[in-house]
Amino acid sequence: MTVTQESIDHIEAGPESTNGTRDERPQAIVVGAGFGGLAAAIRLLAGGYRVTVMEARSIPGGRAGQIVDQGFTFDTGPTLITVPDLLEDLWATAGKSIDEYVDIRRLEPYYRIQFKDGKAFEYSGDPARFDQEVARFNSEDVEGYHRFLEATKNVYQRAFVDLGRAPFHKFSSFLRVVPELIRLGGMRSVYDFASQYIKDPYLRTVLAFHPLFIGGNPFRASAIYSIVPYLEKQGGVHFAMGGMYSVIQAMVQLIEDLGGSVECNAPVRQFVSAAGKIVGVETAGGVINTADVVVANSDAATTLLKLVPEENRSPLWSRYWKQARYSMSCYLLYFGLSRQYPELKHHTIVMPRDFRRVVTDIFDVKRIPSDIPLYIHTPTRTDPSMAPTGCESMYVLVPVPNLSSGIDWDLTGDDLRERVIDALEDEIGLEGFRQSIVVEHRFTPVDFRDELGSWLGAAFSIEPTLTQSAYFRPHNRLSEIDGLYLVGAGTHPGAGVPGVLLSAEIAADMILSDSTADVVRR
Ligand SMILES: Cc1cc2nc3c(=O)[nH]c(=O)nc-3n(C[C@H](O)[C@H](O)[C@H](O)COP(=O)(O)OP(=O)(O)OC[C@H]3O[C@@H](n4cnc5c(N)ncnc54)[C@H](O)[C@@H]3O)c2cc1C
Repeated sequence: MTVTQESIDHIEAGPESTNGTRDERPQAIVVGAGFGGLAAAIRLLAGGYRVTVMEARSIPGGRAGQIVDQGFTFDTGPTLITVPDLLEDLWATAGKSIDEYVDIRRLEPYYRIQFKDGKAFEYSGDPARFDQEVARFNSEDVEGYHRFLEATKNVYQRAFVDLGRAPFHKFSSFLRVVPELIRLGGMRSVYDFASQYIKDPYLRTVLAFHPLFIGGNPFRASAIYSIVPYLEKQGGVHFAMGGMYSVIQAMVQLIEDLGGSVECNAPVRQFVSAAGKIVGVETAGGVINTADVVVANSDAATTLLKLVPEENRSPLWSRYWKQARYSMSCYLLYFGLSRQYPELKHHTIVMPRDFRRVVTDIFDVKRIPSDIPLYIHTPTRTDPSMAPTGCESMYVLVPVPNLSSGIDWDLTGDDLRERVIDALEDEIGLEGFRQSIVVEHRFTPVDFRDELGSWLGAAFSIEPTLTQSAYFRPHNRLSEIDGLYLVGAGTHPGAGVPGVLLSAEIAADMILSDSTADVVRR
């Protein structure tokens, strides 16, 4: 919605405090309480803003939600913390220590990769044990694996440390780094990059599947996304006791401790601008809440195609984002079980027999593969309090096509559930699984669209490809409307908790330096 200058002249200064003085701090509204929105709120509060987070759902967290049912606790989305330093930095920015808010522990092994033909790779954080695992598959690949790690270290230094924090809202700044991205192998896919160093087909999968963690196709995502094995090696794979949602609760607590607020059941219908500047947001109930800056953590495509006032959108832009490639989606089953399966690790990734074919089915053919890959999360292995004594809390994720596939989830959901349970019993060997289910919940691509506002029900927003990265991803500051900033999975640098935390850092830094520039100009 655009309004006239006169109609916004009533925008009041800050609320009156108990001692009768006005709060003169600028007001920020953050739309969406996902990791990106909460992190941006913390940084802005630390930078001297009043902050209100408006969340459409009844709980914060977005993808990182929680279900509690009959003593079982389930994280609904993310489960692995890969760069805990970014969370520590966030707390440090606010002058606090994360250890006082949440108990984060390093896992060992990080996860097991279970191939359906019976082979399994224990993905350890211990370098010697990792080498032994590589040698167990193919002793000739140990040396190649070390060269692979060295190469990914270079990519990490440039792509993550230097460029991951660069805003890339100017084409010239992007052009300057293109030669280097090419030199680092950016034109090759993650799978091809790993294959340069590794001969064994199982090990190639072990070292190249990681783009799936952020909704990318390992055979298409640029090798700049090869950094995950290096990130994991350096920073470890961690788990927050109580589940990932404990981190969300800790972030909300930190926001409140800093004087901000998180309002749930507060959907925003659209942004409100006047003369090319943001002036606030219109709630679903038609109320206009005013603000000096707005940070959108809502799904990037939905934000650009629906929340930004029509007058501020160019037709070219609408066509561009409608035609963009969107990530895969996920079909998730949450099971409370009356027994435990101690043979499962905390994280188990079940690889199909023909990895390339299955990835092609999901991303390009857009059908559910006949040989379904699975990710099994069993947090009770690390934190038994997430289920009643002797029971198991578990979620099973199947990567599936997004809604552009036309799959009717009302028809497909039940059938896929049966296939998942059959695979758990017959292929993974979890005897008596079906009989032990006491609690069950489900989240499908339709829920990603309807519950989280995700364009095409994509679980990870815009697919991470070279032509949809950096400058070519939605920018963290929108040039069309002053005072509107974007954070979250669909923005630069990309999906995954580390990526969205970086997006919040980039946006907050720009807001703080833009407001300093404003003061200087005045
Ligand atoms: C199943 C799954 C497993 C994953 N596992 C991992 C993992 O182990 N490790 C990892 O690092 N990453 C993982 N990821 C990726 C990671 O979870 C996401 O990239 C990240 O959580 C996205 O955060 P975000 O800031 O983009 O916000 P989101 O989580 O997308 O939240 C956005 C919020 O905005 C709200 N919103 C939307 N529109 C409006 C509106 N109009 N008004 C008000 N509010 C609105 C939504 O309700 C939502 O709460 C996983 C993702 C999925 C789906």
